[in-house]
Amino acid sequence: MTDDTNILRASYHTLGCKLNFSETSAIGMQLARRGIIKAQGGEIPDIVVVNTCSVTEVADKKGRSLIRRLRNRWPDATLVVTGCYAQLKPQEVAAIEGVDIVLGNDEKLRISDFLRQWEADRRSRVAVHDYLDIREFHGACERGDRTRYWLKVQDGCDYFCTYCTIPFARGRSRSGRIADLVAEAENAAEAGGKEIVLTGVNVGCFGKDTGEDFLELLKRLDAVEGIERYRISSIEPNLLTEEIVRWIADGSRAFMPSFHIPLQSGSDEVLRLMNRRYRTDLFTDRVQMIRSLMPDAFIGVDIIAGARGETEGEWEKSFSYAESLPVSRYHVFPYSERPGTKALGIDHNVSQEEKHRRVAMLTKLSDVKLRDFSRRFFGTVRPVLWEHPDADEEGLMYGHTDNYLRVRASASASLYNTISSARLEGFVDTETLSATTDI
Ligand code: SF4
Repeated sequence: MTDDTNILRASYHTLGCKLNFSETSAIGMQLARRGIIKAQGGEIPDIVVVNTCSVTEVADKKGRSLIRRLRNRWPDATLVVTGCYAQLKPQEVAAIEGVDIVLGNDEKLRISDFLRQWEADRRSRVAVHDYLDIREFHGACERGDRTRYWLKVQDGCDYFCTYCTIPFARGRSRSGRIADLVAEAENAAEAGGKEIVLTGVNVGCFGKDTGEDFLELLKRLDAVEGIERYRISSIEPNLLTEEIVRWIADGSRAFMPSFHIPLQSGSDEVLRLMNRRYRTDLFTDRVQMIRSLMPDAFIGVDIIAGARGETEGEWEKSFSYAESLPVSRYHVFPYSERPGTKALGIDHNVSQEEKHRRVAMLTKLSDVKLRDFSRRFFGTVRPVLWEHPDADEEGLMYGHTDNYLRVRASASASLYNTISSARLEGFVDTETLSATTDI
């Protein structure tokens, strides 16, 4: 029997984007190398790490309430808060009762050093670099489940869209090195991973700082044996070049026909006010190019409802543009006012009530798009990566097709983490299709 009374345990809590989740995992791995293991259900942690988000006011609020809840639950643990909320409002975070260490985004992967200092002197610390000084790239590859990994290839952003605080929270764009990222993918393959999602803040900016090339990264990853599927989490339309799309369509082994592209508004005037780097003509061009080269590709699109400057006239333009695009679904976000952003200087503020009306209209449009897109594949056979069994009902498995349709089938759990053909039959609900493996 081992005596583990001296072993330290940590519990991890993440809010926000996939990048945050992959970084929390990197923090966990770093602490594990120091012998600090992850607290399992019911165990009392010695260290609590909260990786926050600050994409909206609501995200800040969620961060504050999570920190307070965790402090009340484990009053004796060392409480470390990091992430975008900590980076943007370090003093506000430090003022929350019981917070011991506040780390900015550049310091989050130096947590081990800060914990050592804490062990030595028990002094609270706030360590946050100015965003202009955030220069280092910290790699991270998170195992979402056994099938899918999130590989961080890039961090930060140089775009400064007027409504966004991310460049201030994450600093300037910087990238991993191809050789390191390929090594991460090889490790994921060795651990049984079948799918890798490439993440970053502005992924298409990969290599602008190192002189390496994004398409070259994709080609090198494509050659990693054992990884059957790759997806790019999200890419700015102006950076999704014809060369990349053509290579995915014709040259790639494992990059899937699925894309996620932020539009944000279908009004050129609102795009101008947002300081976005494209207009609707470029966006239309990209969507049409994908559709002509990969007619079955899933195209998911982000759109913001009720941004400053979205007058009734601009909203009408935006909505009818969104209606006209042959995309698969919209991810709809209500505009959220962020202190310190240039957008605050834009005239015409949309009321909350009107914002909700616009969100509801876009959400309804998205449901129609998703159903229309899905329906096209009824009766067809597609490869599915089986990702997990149903939590409540035995004998049901869930997975995704190559073109990112979520499916459910009566199937044996032995299909888990394998790819096999399934015939798509009908709807379980808007998000999920029923399928049969008996073909
Ligand atoms: S591209 Fe624009 S919206 Fe996206 S992170 Fe950069 S500044 Fe923010």
